[in-house]
Amino acid sequence: MKPNSTIHATVRALACSLILIVATIDAGRPARAADRPPNVVLILADDLGYSDVGVYGAKGFTTPHLDRLAREGIRFTDFHVAQAVCSASRAALLTGCYPNRIGIEGAMEPWFKIGLHERELTLPKMMKQKGYATGMVGKWHLGRPVEFLPLRRGFDEYFGLPYSNDQWPLHPEKPGTFPPLPLIDGETVVNPNLSHRDMEKLTAQYTERAVRFIERNKDRPFFLYVAHTMPHVPLAVSERFRGTTKRGLYGDAVEEIDGSTGEILDALKEHGLERDTLVMFLSDNGPWIVYGNHGGSAAPLREGKTTTWEGGTRVPFIARWPGHIPAGAVCGEMAMSIDLLPTIAHLIGATLPNHTIDGLDIWPLIAGESGAKNPHEAYFFYGIPFGVWSGAELESVRTRDWKLILPHGYRTLGGRKPGMDGWPGEYMKRPVVEPELYDMRHDISETHNVAAEHPDVVRRMLDLAERCRADLGDTTLNRKGSGTREPGRLPD
Ligand code: MG
Repeated sequence: MKPNSTIHATVRALACSLILIVATIDAGRPARAADRPPNVVLILADDLGYSDVGVYGAKGFTTPHLDRLAREGIRFTDFHVAQAVCSASRAALLTGCYPNRIGIEGAMEPWFKIGLHERELTLPKMMKQKGYATGMVGKWHLGRPVEFLPLRRGFDEYFGLPYSNDQWPLHPEKPGTFPPLPLIDGETVVNPNLSHRDMEKLTAQYTERAVRFIERNKDRPFFLYVAHTMPHVPLAVSERFRGTTKRGLYGDAVEEIDGSTGEILDALKEHGLERDTLVMFLSDNGPWIVYGNHGGSAAPLREGKTTTWEGGTRVPFIARWPGHIPAGAVCGEMAMSIDLLPTIAHLIGATLPNHTIDGLDIWPLIAGESGAKNPHEAYFFYGIPFGVWSGAELESVRTRDWKLILPHGYRTLGGRKPGMDGWPGEYMKRPVVEPELYDMRHDISETHNVAAEHPDVVRRMLDLAERCRADLGDTTLNRKGSGTREPGRLPD
């Protein structure tokens, strides 16, 4: 045998051994994405602003784990929630519907006897079609009575607060308004009356539960929904993170959420699940700027939470699934939280309901396909009528390039000083009298009303608004939509 042939034979033998070693390693791992649908981890922050993540421009604190998630996946720069307030936003995220289609408005109070109707297909219910284990930790806010809690809406397990942490007797702003705030495990109240110390432990407790859920379910497909209580006021942070940032308690609270995300990512890595898991991160609405140093930032966007200006509805959105989403990609196309349910349905081969849902599959956008376009003609933003504080009025219409603000009144600081250290400033009402048009290609801060220069665009968007009102209604205009459904209701 010539020396060359010996070398070739040795190389061939080595290559075969390597293939054998790789095959052996693979055989010992959990099934890969090709064999099973992906796990899904959905992390939701509460009242975190558009620019409150490092890669989105955070100032005074850092988010290395969220930044890494973005580096290893895709981040969107024009991603929105359906309504800029807690319950309504969560209803849309979990059902793929505009919240007023399914009768969910604004932020529910603890004494409300309504909740998400059992007919609605939620993300966890949909994933159970495919044998997923489903777990939730954190804030629910889609109905307090036990009949509406997460275990009745598709989750196998649940640990968290049934609604917002400011609906709390110890919140300084409204003493005597709220009943004791409970912590719930499954359907059992494990702490009937949260103290300040208890509030400080929440993020760490949620994280520990999330990591344990991943460990327990590592050998089967799972859906994990981590709905943080923070950084919603009143802010609370564990000792480990207190005083660590230049941004005060708000920065500390966001860094704790970032640390939590790091622990969840570590758990996925430790169990060899990184390549089998789609991880998504977003916020439920924009920052509550009336709280000043205890609220976040949406700079350079206009206004914040509860408004349909961009600062209210545009939020950070990051998605990572190695091998399926390109690393370090940035998507400038518009998208909305209602699109996640149909997108995941597409990924796992689940069946969508027979009733109308509003979201559409945006997997080509999340997968970073070149030239992919958003499939919606427009998105519609409802808000709670100012002063009435119930119902839903259509306040704006967005296409990729344009935004039409419809006549309505909105909450603004209007140049007044915001609050400080947990106390809010004072809002004033500012009316929009005539439809205003903004060019979203060149003016994301919504500073120049160009309605007069583009009457054709205004007309077209008013037509879209009319079509939307016929379907979803408008309480300020006394319009009942033909396509709305009732929420779940308990008898009085
Ligand atoms: Mg919120």
